[in-house]
Amino acid sequence: MQYTREQIINAVRAAGIVGAGGAGFPSYVKLQPPKGTSIDTVIANGSECEPLLHTDKTLMRSKAALVVDGVRLAMQVVGAKEGVIGIKGHYKDVVAAVNAVLPKDGSIRIHQLENYYPAGDEFLLVYDIKKRIIPEGGLPLNVGVVVNNVLTLAQMAEAMGGKSVTERILTVTGAVEVPVVVNAPVGTSYRDLLAAACGVVCDNPVVIDGGPMMGRIIDDIDAGISKTTSGIVVLPDGHFVVDMKKITVPQMVKKSKAACCQCFRCSDLCPRNLLGHELYPHKTMRTIDYNQSEPAKHITSAFLCSQCGVCELAACDVMKLSPRKIYAAYRKELLAKGVKNPHHEQPKEVRSNYEFSKLALPTLVKKIHLAEYAEREVVHKGKVETNRVRIALNRHLGAPAKPTVVLGQRVLLGDVIGATSEDKMGSIYHASLAGKVTEVSDNLIEITR
Ligand code: SF4
Ligand code: SF4
Repeated sequence: MQYTREQIINAVRAAGIVGAGGAGFPSYVKLQPPKGTSIDTVIANGSECEPLLHTDKTLMRSKAALVVDGVRLAMQVVGAKEGVIGIKGHYKDVVAAVNAVLPKDGSIRIHQLENYYPAGDEFLLVYDIKKRIIPEGGLPLNVGVVVNNVLTLAQMAEAMGGKSVTERILTVTGAVEVPVVVNAPVGTSYRDLLAAACGVVCDNPVVIDGGPMMGRIIDDIDAGISKTTSGIVVLPDGHFVVDMKKITVPQMVKKSKAACCQCFRCSDLCPRNLLGHELYPHKTMRTIDYNQSEPAKHITSAFLCSQCGVCELAACDVMKLSPRKIYAAYRKELLAKGVKNPHHEQPKEVRSNYEFSKLALPTLVKKIHLAEYAEREVVHKGKVETNRVRIALNRHLGAPAKPTVVLGQRVLLGDVIGATSEDKMGSIYHASLAGKVTEVSDNLIEITR
């Protein structure tokens, strides 16, 4: 069936689709680049480079046709001539599943990616596939490309049939009895999802939303997952990854003064530095170690950091310092002061060591002590049932959504329960369970079956 550009954009907005890969950028906005922007390529990001996660691979095995349909829709909306689906080349079965449903006209192709971290960073993905370097602080659209996660694209295809985002696929792994990939209603508690993996198998478990590299520690396992939760990783307290996530910025600053040996390794392995951006974490650490505020570029370069965690978990694994955390703190402070990113250079070429400094995923897994979890078989379990969902209304980029239901109201699966006002960038949220609204606050709605 043929749809107009407006029909597709409206359906994507009404379905509440946001970037499923983690950022939560509203997809209807991404489909409307500013006037005068010329887009020639849509890239489907199926790289799934976070260790231990099997979400996107499982989706592509089971719903390859939907992903391809989503690429086709996105190409139509942005006027792109080419669609490229980025998949790690060693996942032969996934490549075969997608290959089998590609259109015969050659408009959409597969690009087989190398198995490195962070191959899913859209800056690196665009360079690997198109050999174009996104400028500092820029977006893929600055070089004629729109990138969407494969689940986001599948959700776009489903939206054309009227389906809203009420559930998502995710991996539950790490120190659990049975690592699983499941489909769960948005707002399902971490507790219920751990039960779907037959429970945890370590003392003092720490639960991470997302992958071990970029995920965040969850304080409350009765909170609900969001549209952007691609995985849940359980690790024992005291694990290297957990320790690095827990260390605070003041602790880090104090430690850095004594421990940073200016070895340059964090800059040498930094993926954005490898791309040619002027981001030198070791120099930023030096400004901290000596309480310097000059040169300011080593502070404002915080705007160029993707928070990938390579400097923290892979480069500085001996001294255990975290330029990543320092950049996050600087960025927050700069934004609070109203400072805008002053870095906009567009490198002409990547660094000469770009290719051979790529961090192979098996090496990373060993380095951050995840090998015992990575070797385990992961079961695709299907849908998880739950009796209660807690849906946060602010887990997307833009203005938070406001509740559109009241306490005690009965809702059906797919009913709108919250929305951002139309004049602001944001998202719409839908009931992921039929039942009664048992809690409403500015940012949260609970529904009980
Ligand atoms: S932060 Fe770590 S990796 Fe970077 S220069 Fe200092 S010691 Fe080396
Ligand atoms: S987290 Fe570290 S390695 Fe990653 S982009 Fe930022 S500075 Fe570079």
